[in-house]
Amino acid sequence: MNSLPSLEGKGTLQGVSGAPPSLLNPPSGCVFHPRCPYVWDRCKVEVPILRTTGAEQRAACHLLDEPQRVFEKEAQ
Ligand code: SF4
Repeated sequence: MNSLPSLEGKGTLQGVSGAPPSLLNPPSGCVFHPRCPYVWDRCKVEVPILRTTGAEQRAACHLLDEPQRVFEKEAQ
């Protein structure tokens, strides 16, 4: 979410560190897991399912099931 520009042009965009995954040999589980700061064991073995999260929003992330992990990680 930090990589999305604001309509007002405010703030600093933050990219995801590292390189995009290989399309020929993608990582197991969530393809973002080698680069994700919120990764945990489940992410490495289970592909997250794309789900509707709002009127015009969809997301595929295990954090949808355990959003408290974001706050726990940021508190570290
Ligand atoms: S499922 Fe979500 S938390 Fe897990 S690695 Fe992928 S983007 Fe990160």
